[in-house]
Amino acid sequence: MNRPARVVAQSTSSDSPQGMTLLRDPLLNKGTAFTEAEREALGLRGLLPPCVLTMETQAQRVLTNLRTLPTDLEKYVALNALHDRNEALFFRVVVDNIDEIQPIIYTPTVGLACQKFGLIFQRPRGMFISSRDRGQIAEILKNWPYSAKLIVVTDGERILGLGDLGANGMGIPVGKLSLYSACAGVHPEACLPIVLDVGTNNEELLNDPYYLGLRERRLTGEAYDSFVDEFMQAARKTFPGVLIQFEDFANHSAFKLLHKYRDEACVFNDDIQGTAAVALAGLFSALRVNGGKLKDQKILFLGAGEAATGIADLVVSAMMAEGASEAEALRRNWLVDSRGLVVGGREGLSGHKLRYAHTGQAPISDFLTAIKTLKPTAIIGVAAVGGAFTPEVLEAMAELNEQPIVFALSNPTSKAECSAEDAYRYTKGRALFACGSPYDPVTLNGRSFVPRQGNNSYIFPGVGLGVIASGSKLVTDEMFMAAAHTLANCVGKEDLAQGSLYPALPRIREVSVRIAAAVADVAYQRGLADGPAPNDVKALVQSQMYEPHY
Ligand code: NAD
Repeated sequence: MNRPARVVAQSTSSDSPQGMTLLRDPLLNKGTAFTEAEREALGLRGLLPPCVLTMETQAQRVLTNLRTLPTDLEKYVALNALHDRNEALFFRVVVDNIDEIQPIIYTPTVGLACQKFGLIFQRPRGMFISSRDRGQIAEILKNWPYSAKLIVVTDGERILGLGDLGANGMGIPVGKLSLYSACAGVHPEACLPIVLDVGTNNEELLNDPYYLGLRERRLTGEAYDSFVDEFMQAARKTFPGVLIQFEDFANHSAFKLLHKYRDEACVFNDDIQGTAAVALAGLFSALRVNGGKLKDQKILFLGAGEAATGIADLVVSAMMAEGASEAEALRRNWLVDSRGLVVGGREGLSGHKLRYAHTGQAPISDFLTAIKTLKPTAIIGVAAVGGAFTPEVLEAMAELNEQPIVFALSNPTSKAECSAEDAYRYTKGRALFACGSPYDPVTLNGRSFVPRQGNNSYIFPGVGLGVIASGSKLVTDEMFMAAAHTLANCVGKEDLAQGSLYPALPRIREVSVRIAAAVADVAYQRGLADGPAPNDVKALVQSQMYEPHY
């Protein structure tokens, strides 16, 4: 992606940064890789040790150091510091070692990093806009020195499965945007992480001396809505055409914001729509193994929030695309929430669950009984209840199905519904399994399984790249459907043979290009793009990708 213009004229050819200022600019710094000629021309002589290293050697040094660190949190801090010193080197290391690094800069480690945010905070990254800034948000956004094309914004109320972490949630937009750049080449300068600090109801944080957010209870009701609305208007005015991704909002806000803005602004909610696409892709892969059709599946979700209803809604659309009526498709998707099976007539059901509140079924309070009663072909865990897929649950699924589909998608690892090992062990190796957290390969009775993460990071980078490359005005469900099909088509026979329902992560940039092209195609076909379709959409997408090199 072409480097977006800096709003602050920091580097013109005549006054480009030199000397120490240059070494302290993470976007321009090459550290020990500055050549002799550059050192001479840029006032760097004496400021660096004499040996000139290649980027490859620098990257190897980073990895060697990283691997000596005892905990993932220390690795997270070290990588953050590198990001702050030398952006190109940071992304080189991430891109070339995505399997090893993604779990550190994103889930699961980012969850712990958010919990410890006040303690490990070093340099600010992104923008903190607090409810005290009301009336001045547009002014404040002008302080950002680059022209953003992509904002990931959270209010920190539902960080992963960890709950309300207030301003500490900043780790999530930062991590997601790093993945946009690493996995799909969205230029780092185009990326703006934002926390809307509307307070927190987390007592522990309110009493934590290191907490860096507002020490007040969350803004609610009309005050909250108008604050977010001011932000939305200001962001779109300051950065025309910007893509805004809502991230880790609690579900009462998430559905409301998505519905309020999706038809007028370029927005999406990854927890709802990105999750839906990655889960649907996993289902398509699983069905390639067991030979089933999506429209014949019965899916029981543990959880009835953003992820569950987002997935169920996209699955319903996909079942209808296979010829099912809407009523038939809905009836094949069932939700269990903290109060048991969602059924018609239950008091106080929130709006997003109503489509799945089926009539003619008595209430059931526990998940195992729901399985035995409904006889699902697939269970999908998105309730952030660690260990909820007990041995009895897994055995029941194996009894009902020759090859049960078991997706334990909750994050971080402590919230996973079951481990990969348990999923295979208690189904005698027959489960078609995907997980939300990374698990090592499992060997059972001489057979080796390679479980892969049903992680949104397969989807959102490509979707974002496609939307930005085409200049789409909106992000539509059709784009997520296209992304799901494309991701599933990237899974090879050799992947399926070892139990992997997703492609290997090191292929992510190739996968993202294909997803971006599919998404951009939808934008051109639906008249949402900024201009006519190019002859070669894939080439357009590729031409916009950031490559981390000096
Ligand atoms: P959410 O808060 O919107 O929904 C959580 C749901 O779980 C609610 O419906 C709640 O009633 C239900 N629940 C809570 N306790 C329960 C219990 N004991 N039994 C049954 N249901 C219970 O959250 P969400 O956005 O849907 O996310 C849920 C989980 O899914 C989180 O851990 C999140 O990290 C994970 N997730 C993973 C991915 C991925 O890529 N793998 C993507 C999105 C979300």
